[in-house]
Amino acid sequence: MDHPASSTRKNLLDSLSRQISECRDCRLGSTRTSAVPGIGSPDAEICFIGEGPGRDEDATGVPFVGQAGHVLDRLLLSVGLQRGDCYICNIVKCRPPNNRVPAPDEIETCSVYLYAQLAVLEPSIICLLGNTALRFFFGENYAIGQVRGTILVKDGQRFLPTYHPAAALRNPQYESVIQKDLLKLLDAIHDPGSLASRSARLQSSTNSRRTTAR
Ligand code: SF4
Repeated sequence: MDHPASSTRKNLLDSLSRQISECRDCRLGSTRTSAVPGIGSPDAEICFIGEGPGRDEDATGVPFVGQAGHVLDRLLLSVGLQRGDCYICNIVKCRPPNNRVPAPDEIETCSVYLYAQLAVLEPSIICLLGNTALRFFFGENYAIGQVRGTILVKDGQRFLPTYHPAAALRNPQYESVIQKDLLKLLDAIHDPGSLASRSARLQSSTNSRRTTAR
């Protein structure tokens, strides 16, 4: 399948965002203020995936706008990136009460949207922010402290895990670690081999995870 045109990808992402905004398929739908579908460029080579919306995101419907979001923005700028260059979303699209970790059944129910977003975006690399995002793709035996900064590959898709920006609020020394990992991310994007193989990878990933959003 050819990579759809940018306008088509935008329309598909917009349609998914509308579906997410109306979704009540898990218990988080009854406690949220706003669903937080995701934001960014339909042409993004990099997709950032966090855990779930917090208080500020729940109030605005936009991912990473609270304190952790400011850290992310600062780190992106420090390596020459802006939000508009990337796509940013979360594992679950609605805020878990009191910012608890989303439950396995909530993650499972919401995953249809994440898979659909990734099938549209077909990013060159996915940056996993924190353990919840890492374990969603790689399982419970993985820990961010052990694999951060390492390129992982699954089903032809490349991933780079790093600390969640919220961790840098608690441990300011993590900020330079995340920055170092973002530089690795950029190196991976600029690897010509990775871009040349994009359509082959897309075909493989589309076949293996084709998910139809409702
Ligand atoms: S978290 Fe996901 S599945 Fe649950 S209500 Fe929100 S959009 Fe729907």
